[in-house]
Amino acid sequence: MSLVSSTPLLQHARENGYCVGAFNVHTLEMLQAVVEAAAETESPLILQSTVGTVKHLGPDYIAAAAQTAAKLHRIPIALHLDHCTDFDLIVKCIRAGYTSVMIDASHSPFDENVAQTRKVVEVAKAAGVNVEAELGKVGGVEDEIVVGEEDATLADPLECRRFVELTGVATLAPAIGTAHGIYKGEPKIDFDRIQAIAEVVSVPLVLHGGSGIPVEQVRRAVSLGMSKMNIATELRIAFSNAIKSVFDQNPEENDPRKYMVPAKQALKEMAIEKMRMCGCIGKAGQLI
Ligand SMILES: [Zn+2]
Repeated sequence: MSLVSSTPLLQHARENGYCVGAFNVHTLEMLQAVVEAAAETESPLILQSTVGTVKHLGPDYIAAAAQTAAKLHRIPIALHLDHCTDFDLIVKCIRAGYTSVMIDASHSPFDENVAQTRKVVEVAKAAGVNVEAELGKVGGVEDEIVVGEEDATLADPLECRRFVELTGVATLAPAIGTAHGIYKGEPKIDFDRIQAIAEVVSVPLVLHGGSGIPVEQVRRAVSLGMSKMNIATELRIAFSNAIKSVFDQNPEENDPRKYMVPAKQALKEMAIEKMRMCGCIGKAGQLI
């Protein structure tokens, strides 16, 4: 298969009460591990890269690896650019083969957020590419974007509806109390707000800051309309911890395959666990 837009995957998820896992990957091995997890469990998959990773690896290398994954497996795979504030980089990624992009103008006033998002929707629609935008501000640290707890603001349901109408955006990430990174205490998810937004907005909703949310809370958020869950920090930790334990046992190790193989395995196991939590296992066949 070729890479697909994430729009039909997420619409199907919203209509059928599950969510699709969107996994942030930073290396070829991380990408392979997540792809193998999805292929073995017949799950639809969204591969994601942050702006930092796009700058680190280059969009062409990432898109080529994702396209190869799509060719090798009979599951729908989308490639998404996470939290981008730079219009030119979004265009570059679309040209490289990304099938989904996020324009994050959530730091700007409402009208400016609408204008920037519309501009991206116009370009992306012509290329059949999904667009995600954010309303309200998700707290925490995501690559180069840092939002302090005092600056995090929750999305207003009626503003969400107006925003979707004005921009034509295909997926919306409303801030509902989750945060990027690892939670210090229990996350304070505003479930009533998710429900209120889902009642007035028909496009699939995206849950950011998915690392460390208890399973029951994820399931509740999904049942209320969250159709995509972003998972980043926990994957990095699983991957890095596996590498650290190889070096703990053998500080002299100098063959990358010796530490990448266990790291891939650890990441793959975690990805399968997250796919189970999302409820997307076995759904691939309904989408191809
Ligand atoms: Zn995010």
